Amino acid sequence: MASPARVDLDGNPIKPITICMIGAGGFIGSHLCEKLMAETPHKVLAVDVYNDKIKHLLEPASQPWADRIQFHRINIKHDSRLEGLIKMADLTINLAAICTPADYNTRPLDTIYSNFIDALPVVKYCSENNKRLIHFSTCEVYGKTIGSFLPKDHPLRQDPDFYVLKEDFSPCIFGPIEKQRWSYACAKQLIERLIYAEGAENGLQFTIVRPFNWIGPRMDFIPGVDGPSEGVPRVLACFSNNLLRGEPLKLVDGGQSQRTFVYIKDAIEAVFLMIENPARANGQIFNVGNPNNEVTVRQLAELMTEVYSKVSGQPPLEVPTIDVSSKEFYGEGYDDSDKRIPDMTIINKQLGWNPKTSLFDLLESTLTYQHRTYAEAIKQAIAKPVAS
Ligand code: NAD
Repeated sequence: MASPARVDLDGNPIKPITICMIGAGGFIGSHLCEKLMAETPHKVLAVDVYNDKIKHLLEPASQPWADRIQFHRINIKHDSRLEGLIKMADLTINLAAICTPADYNTRPLDTIYSNFIDALPVVKYCSENNKRLIHFSTCEVYGKTIGSFLPKDHPLRQDPDFYVLKEDFSPCIFGPIEKQRWSYACAKQLIERLIYAEGAENGLQFTIVRPFNWIGPRMDFIPGVDGPSEGVPRVLACFSNNLLRGEPLKLVDGGQSQRTFVYIKDAIEAVFLMIENPARANGQIFNVGNPNNEVTVRQLAELMTEVYSKVSGQPPLEVPTIDVSSKEFYGEGYDDSDKRIPDMTIINKQLGWNPKTSLFDLLESTLTYQHRTYAEAIKQAIAKPVAS
């Protein structure tokens, strides 16, 4: 239940606010809504085209928070109700985006429109109406590390100055235009620059969040169960799908890219601190990730295979992985960032936030959820006789 004695990091009581959350029906939005309803008195105007992932918060109408969450089925591309909702709220959180790598090079126009053009009215309405904005960007804005341009065995590749990603220092390094993979990162970078400029020229109160691979339950979909059979979700759901079906995990270009993974529940704590400490969060760009959870994608596949065997009680796959080329898996125009370690100085200093959950623990709780939610449906789908 919401406690009346909640205080911010400076000891001031936290007043209940109304939040217009755009993209509330997605992975991050669903976790944010859940915690806001369970632990705070804040109200949420939840905007999305889908609501399956927050249905449990909207129904039945007897839920204790029923008068604090309203769902608005709105496509922000073309709906005049958006400005009214932003005006009614104290804070807007914009999560809406196309953000699956399989789309960046195959649907670059939709990717650029979604991440830049569609976000423009949100920024404009916040700025014109003096409303605070928390905008979700991405760690992909950093692109490749400086170190990746050095020869493979160069000693400076081991120097953190050549790979740790700092909000106020690191450059954004993308590949050539024909590598359309960078359409997403570039659109996110431009909207960051626009928001920053609105802050500098027109006084917009903003916070920009750069998530570094947040993972957990409800991320994306399992193809053929709660999403299209031919759909390609992000890596957690791709590997979960392979494990649930007992198929080898597909490693793109040898799975050599390095990533850091943070548990969604740790990351949501960071967003809470931003929501409830505006004086410390306004005007800031925050990396939100877990620098201690770094693995190559190949190591992630191996660890997920081990953990899934533990939580499902099934023996590990005899052939756990197979290699595929990025061209075969993602199509023409794919490219990748080599390594993504977030610098944590700014978020530590401003909000005192640190992630807590190890990679093993976060995979254990996530794969337990995946197994419980999908194993039966997959079994039935596989057993279904093919229509003659
Ligand atoms: P998600 O795809 O699960 O959620 C996005 C939601 O936005 C979806 O429910 C979608 O229906 C909604 N949406 C998209 N376009 C819309 C439109 N025109 N009108 C209304 N709703 C629309 O993604 P997520 O993982 O929750 O990510 C949220 C944000 O965080 C995105 O901006 C993404 O780029 C950013 N991000 C997330 C991660 C991560 O690790 N999950 C990493 C980097 C960046």
